[in-house]
Amino acid sequence: MRQRLIVPGAVAAVLALTVPASAAEAGPSPGAPGAGDSYYPDYGNGGYNVSHYDLRLKYQPKTDELSGTATVLAKATQDLSRFNLDFALGVKQVHVDGRTAKVSTSGSHELEVTPAEPLSKGEKFSVVVRYSGIPSEVEVDGYTSWQRTPDGAVAANEPESAWWWYPSNDHPSDKATFDISIAVPEGYKSISNGDLVSEEPATGGWTRSNWRSGQPQATYLATMAVGKFDVTRSRTESGTPVINAYSRKLGDEDGAARASVERTAEITGWLEGVFGEYPFSSIGGYVPASGAHFALETQTRPFYGNERFKDGTDVSVVVHELAHQWYGDSVSVRKWRDIWLNEGFASYASWLWSEKEGEGTAQEIASEVYESYPANDSFWKVAPGDPGPENQFHAAVYDRGAMALQALRNKTGDKDFFRILKGWPAEREGGNARVGDFVKYAEKVSGKSLSSLFDTWLYKTSKPKKPALGGDVNAAERKQPKSWEEIQAVHGAHRH
Ligand SMILES: [Zn+2]
Repeated sequence: MRQRLIVPGAVAAVLALTVPASAAEAGPSPGAPGAGDSYYPDYGNGGYNVSHYDLRLKYQPKTDELSGTATVLAKATQDLSRFNLDFALGVKQVHVDGRTAKVSTSGSHELEVTPAEPLSKGEKFSVVVRYSGIPSEVEVDGYTSWQRTPDGAVAANEPESAWWWYPSNDHPSDKATFDISIAVPEGYKSISNGDLVSEEPATGGWTRSNWRSGQPQATYLATMAVGKFDVTRSRTESGTPVINAYSRKLGDEDGAARASVERTAEITGWLEGVFGEYPFSSIGGYVPASGAHFALETQTRPFYGNERFKDGTDVSVVVHELAHQWYGDSVSVRKWRDIWLNEGFASYASWLWSEKEGEGTAQEIASEVYESYPANDSFWKVAPGDPGPENQFHAAVYDRGAMALQALRNKTGDKDFFRILKGWPAEREGGNARVGDFVKYAEKVSGKSLSSLFDTWLYKTSKPKKPALGGDVNAAERKQPKSWEEIQAVHGAHRH
């Protein structure tokens, strides 16, 4: 489905030698159409970094028409004759620094923008894109991530979501702040990321809501939803405002959805004890009637597919998505191959919640999951540390990824393990990281060599021998905390 660009080592070396000389001769040149991610070579773009997106949108649920203006503030990282944005809707007009720019399209989702004058390396510039379209009718590689619902629509998917509703440098390595303003007809509400700054009447009976994300956010973590939502508000113990929303079109699952997502404030407070201070200025979650079964850690306001709650409450998924606010959102992957830094930790957080609730320790769950996959199961063929784009969201990234953390816990002991879990999000707050960066950090905190442990759990394509999990071997010598409260009390001292 996706085209992969493979440059053999020898050819890559020749290119590396020749590019600087020819670029110097040629003057300003086009920015690359991709961000250099080996999993998705044409995702994101080269030649600039975005600092802020301002999206002023209008959405009509009856027709699925989305229209608006995106203002993108960026800085050139090379002399640019032209640059790309990732976008799939119809563009009416583009201005760069206030002057009309030439626009053309290429590939499935590339918008090529040629400013009236070239941009110099280091120069800050603004791009204004006016656009409109019907996102549900726009297919990229044969599908659309845009979810229609009985009462509106939702933009939430990974890794492809942005290009159905706003133009961007669509790669998690280029994070930015966001202002998202959405106008909807009377009777409807919009939901997005961050703080609800204001809601104001617009002409013709429409209402405009203004949402702000003041901390860096990856493009795929931006979300918008329009529907007939019932909104609840509260605060966490430490004072963070909570905004949750539930579609009024939910069926029998309405109670289970609310009984799960209304735990958001409590769970966020508990996670602060494990991962450190909550990194953003608001939190919440929303459940549209989209018919989806998946959930997504859209920043500060996770998306929960309503199918998730058809069989009853699912608090585990709320723990998982909230854990991502530290592991995935505040600290984001550098490249998509680093996905274990998101999913291994969010999965492990659910195991810790089970341990805290007295429903099975993380060790017991790790052992059960380990036993459940025979050595010849294809599960063990996927390396969570570099699963490949086709297996980026394979169960192994989640379950074996979490087993890797249980093995680490058994190797370092609880004290150092929880120092690592809490220290990493503070050390890397708002930034990006690679798997290798985490391994180095864990070695620094624990003072232990961990390369063999992580090689076994993240990179080997065979089932590790049982002692590698470590629980039975080390249980006797570990000083077990008496209770979950003790873990939090002891390690609270290490918050920074
Ligand atoms: Zn996840």
